[in-house]
Amino acid sequence: MGHIGIRDLEVYAYHGVYPEEREKGQTFYVSADLYLDTWKAEHEDDLDASVHYGLVCESIKDYMTREKYLLIERAADEICENLMKDYPKLNKVCVKLYKPEAPIPMPFGTVFVETSRSWTEAYIAVGSNMGDKENYIRQAIGMMEETRGIQVKKVSELICTEPYGYTDQETFLNGCVWIRTWLPPEELLKRLQEIEHKLHRERKIHWGPRTIDLDIILYGEEVIHTKDLSVPHPDMVNRMFVLGPLDEIAGWAWHPVEHKTIHQLKESLNEREAEKHD
Ligand code: AMP
Repeated sequence: MGHIGIRDLEVYAYHGVYPEEREKGQTFYVSADLYLDTWKAEHEDDLDASVHYGLVCESIKDYMTREKYLLIERAADEICENLMKDYPKLNKVCVKLYKPEAPIPMPFGTVFVETSRSWTEAYIAVGSNMGDKENYIRQAIGMMEETRGIQVKKVSELICTEPYGYTDQETFLNGCVWIRTWLPPEELLKRLQEIEHKLHRERKIHWGPRTIDLDIILYGEEVIHTKDLSVPHPDMVNRMFVLGPLDEIAGWAWHPVEHKTIHQLKESLNEREAEKHD
């Protein structure tokens, strides 16, 4: 990964808790570190293979001046998230925002905040077994795509499967979505639950009928065990309706607990199921 750095870009803006700061404004300085694959730019001397630091500076000025925020944390966050959105070649962005004229009644050098965002590859299992199943799934994927901090990279075929757990219900339509996201895992879960809620998911019976079910299957190679979240999803290794679609779009993806690829996990589940039927 290569790195482009910008230091102390001067921007006049109107952020601050005090009303006079938002009226009169003051000078801020922005430093940004942009991480991207620069191999092609290095070898082919081609600006299209990189990002134009002049345009990035213009963009930072725009993000800094189109709104007035109370906090420099908020302003730095706007810079980071908008750079990630507007420059898709960037894998990671670190921003420092300096406020040397901050209202502090004693001598000081400067105050600053620092924040960063980076993309993580993640995989979401989608399922529906009520109403217009395909429509619910397509709507959920559309809502993921519209979320700040989520980009949908690939969607598997949707497959029809028999119900799992509570079996006295309609067949399911299942698939998997490959996304990249800079939302932390808990925020990603919250967003997926919001989407489930908007699509009128009813949660009456555990493993029972649902308009939409969205599960985080893998989040990079992270292993997470909290009150609300287990990743990799504990049941994924036993569910062909997860491993099948996931193998189609990302058979090489790595399960950080099983230490196997998705393709290997699917093959071993196939073998276990064949043995059961012998
Ligand atoms: P479900 O009925 O499968 O949608 O289960 C939802 C519940 O599982 C929620 O309370 C989540 O907090 C919890 N959960 C734990 N791990 C995950 C995961 N990897 N993805 C989605 N939900 C999860």
